[in-house]
Amino acid sequence: MLTCKDISETATDHLEGKTSFASRLSFYLHLLYCKYCRRYYRQMKLTIRTIQKLPEAKDSEEFPDDAEIDRVFEKLREQS
Ligand SMILES: [Zn+2]
Repeated sequence: MLTCKDISETATDHLEGKTSFASRLSFYLHLLYCKYCRRYYRQMKLTIRTIQKLPEAKDSEEFPDDAEIDRVFEKLREQS
C-alpha cells in the first residue's frame, strides 16, 4: 500500500506517463481514498498545465516582469 510520501515522490512520473500499469493502479487507488493526495495531484497538474501555456522566454536567465506574473496569477484564478 502506498503512503502519502510515496505519492508525492512519484506524482511527476505519473504525470509524465513514466510508470508501469501496476504502479499506476496503486497510485490511483491511493488517490481514491486520500483527499489530500487528490488535492495535491490536482494542483500539480494545474501548475504544469499553466507553466506549459506560458510564452517561452527569449533569454533563459530573463526573469518575467510584473505584468507577466499578474497574467499567470490571473490564469490560476480562472482555473481554480
Ligand atoms: Zn495520501
